[in-house]
Amino acid sequence: MIQSPELVVKDLHVAVEGKEILKGLSLEVRKGEIHALMGPNGSGKSTFANTLMGHPNYQVTAGDILFKGESVLGLETDARARAGLFMAFQYPVAIPGVTVSNFLRTALNARLAPPGAGANGAVPAKRGIAPKEFRSLLRERMGLLRMDDSFAQRYLNDGFSGGEKKRAEILQLAVLKPEIAVLDETDSGLDIDALRIVSEGVNALSGPDLGLLVITHYQRILNYIKPHFVHVMLDGRITLSGGPELALELERRGYDFVREGNEAAR
Ligand code: ADP
Ligand code: MG
Repeated sequence: MIQSPELVVKDLHVAVEGKEILKGLSLEVRKGEIHALMGPNGSGKSTFANTLMGHPNYQVTAGDILFKGESVLGLETDARARAGLFMAFQYPVAIPGVTVSNFLRTALNARLAPPGAGANGAVPAKRGIAPKEFRSLLRERMGLLRMDDSFAQRYLNDGFSGGEKKRAEILQLAVLKPEIAVLDETDSGLDIDALRIVSEGVNALSGPDLGLLVITHYQRILNYIKPHFVHVMLDGRITLSGGPELALELERRGYDFVREGNEAAR
């Protein structure tokens, strides 16, 4: 039996404040695959990522999002995360007073909790992972990402550099072990060293148990993270898909050739 892809997006239409932004986006991502979603600013990439995670400002007006065979449209963000969907933010938020370590342990416990526990956003009473076990998991994952131990005791994103914020996002990915992860412009604002470190972290985590959707405006992160599939988004839908060579072509020719191709096809 051929298993259906973990993530199936069907003809998705999304409106923000009454304006249609996504206009029929379809995409399938399986575990073990790396997809790049590229497109110019304002094409709707972040709108898609936010909709995937159930951001309340994004209203699905048509189409569906299936995760492991079931629609997630009725699920709150935390339920989607617990089911195994993950998103790394383009602009991570600082939480002064909450250490990286505490944040991650709380999130992991929520992720490990049985379905239905901790409804209404409450942290489930049942502890999913013992503190000692968690500390060794965290140390191991931070080692994988070549992060200093002291990082865990800092307040989440509080005073972090751009590179540190993105590394904190990837650490969340490493600890929570989702099945499908969306990285929204994880490369934006990174210098070349930080970009390399973040990419190496992502590569260390990629494998048969993880499906990745790497959203990016620029081709350069794809020099480090090798996608199996590349999709180009224009005006709220995917207008062109191909293999890794498509990213190189975009680098060379810009998005205009996709636009022109679209015009010609009409
Ligand atoms: P991208 O990530 O590809 O740059 P976005 O999804 O951020 O594109 O934006 C696509 C369009 O949707 C833009 O025109 C943007 O102004 C609009 N948009 C996205 N989010 C909101 C929002 N929360 N409120 C109003 N408009 C929004
Ligand atoms: Mg964006």
